[in-house]
Amino acid sequence: MMSEKKSIQRLHGRAGACVLLIAVLLVLFALAGCSRNVDPETIPPQTVPSIPVTAPQTKAPETAAPTVPETTAPATEAPTEAPTEPVTEAPTTEAPAVYTPSEKTMYATGTVNVRAADNTDAEILGRLKLAEAVQQLAEGDNGWRRVSYKGQEAYVSGRYLSEKQPETPAPYTPPAVRDVTIHGSGNGQLIVIDPGHQRRANKEQEPVGPGSDKTKKKVTAGCTGVVSKIEESVVVLKVGLRLRDLLVENGYRVIMVRESQDVDISNIERAQIANKYKADAFLRLHINSTDSSSVRGANPIITTKNNPWNGNLYSKNKKLASCVLEAYCEATGIKSRGVKESDDYSGNNWAEVPTILFEMGFMSNPEEDRLLTDAAFQENMAKGIVNGLNRYFGQ
Ligand SMILES: [Zn+2]
Repeated sequence: MMSEKKSIQRLHGRAGACVLLIAVLLVLFALAGCSRNVDPETIPPQTVPSIPVTAPQTKAPETAAPTVPETTAPATEAPTEAPTEPVTEAPTTEAPAVYTPSEKTMYATGTVNVRAADNTDAEILGRLKLAEAVQQLAEGDNGWRRVSYKGQEAYVSGRYLSEKQPETPAPYTPPAVRDVTIHGSGNGQLIVIDPGHQRRANKEQEPVGPGSDKTKKKVTAGCTGVVSKIEESVVVLKVGLRLRDLLVENGYRVIMVRESQDVDISNIERAQIANKYKADAFLRLHINSTDSSSVRGANPIITTKNNPWNGNLYSKNKKLASCVLEAYCEATGIKSRGVKESDDYSGNNWAEVPTILFEMGFMSNPEEDRLLTDAAFQENMAKGIVNGLNRYFGQ
C-alpha cells in the first residue's frame, strides 16, 4: 500500500513532467511557425532542385610522399587525357621557397608541365616531352626548379628533370601500305570501308596521332552481343561486305580494309590505306557497347576542329557524319545520338581524308543486339549508309 507522502511526491513528479512537455511543444510550435514565415524571396521553395554541393578540396599533407610520377603512361583503349599532375606532386610550404642559382641544362624524364609559378595550381605554360631539354636557372628548396621557357621564367617540378638525357624510343614509321583490291570501275567516288577490329586483338602500341608520344593498342577485339554472343568484328564485316556490293551497284569504287576475320591490320595501317588511295570518304564501321543495357542508338565519331593533325577536315567530316547518320536512322529506325567528336581514335587522327567512325548501335542493348545481328536488318543498315553517301556527294 502506498503512503500519502509518496503519492504526493509522485503527483508533483507528474506535474513537473507535464510542464516540461508543454514547454517542449511550445518551442517546437514556435520553430515551425518561424520556418513558415520565412520570406519567400530569400529562401527558394523546396521544389527547386538543390545545387549539388562539391566537397571542399583538401590539400595533400605537406609531407606526403609523391607516388605517381607526372609522366604520361602509354594510353590504353580508353580515351587519353592530357597528363595531369598528382595532387601530391610537390611538397608545398607556407613560406615562399628559397631559390639558389644553378644554371644547367636539364632533361624531362617524361611529359611534364611547365608552370607560371612553383605550385600545381599555377597556370600551365606548356609541356616538355620526354628527353626534351630545358635551361635551368635556379633550384628551389621546395623541390621546384626555375627554368627559362620560351624566353620567360617558368617552373618545373624537379622530380621530373634529370641532368642525364633519357633515351627516347625510335620515331615511329608506319609500315608500307599493303596491296588492296579496288572494287567497281569508272570514275565513281572512292570509298574505303574499314570494318572495325579483327578476330584477335593486337596489343602492341602505336602513336595515337602522327608524331604523338601517346600510344594506343594497334587494334582491339571489339565487343560482343549481350544476347547474340556474336562478336562486333563479325557483324561489321558482314555489313561492310554488303555495303561494298551496294556501293559498287551505285557506281562507287570501293576498297575494303579487310574482307576476312583473320587479318592483323592496325588502326594506323587502316587509315594509311584511305590516305594512299585518297579516298573520297573513309568509313570505319563499329558497334558500341556500354555497361548499361538501356543505352541505345547510333552515332558517328569525328575528330574535333582543333585536332592537330586533321582539324582542317572538320567541316567535311561533320557533313559526312550528319548525312550518313540521318539516312542510316531513317532506313533502320535506330535512334540518332548525334555526331560525337573526339581526338582519341588513332584511325581517325591518322586519316588525311574525310573520315567517320560510325557506331551503328549498341550490342549491350538486347533489342539492338538482336536487330544488328539480323541479316535482313543488316541489309537496311547498308542501304541507309549508301543513301547517306549519296546525300553527302550530292547525288
Ligand atoms: Zn568497335
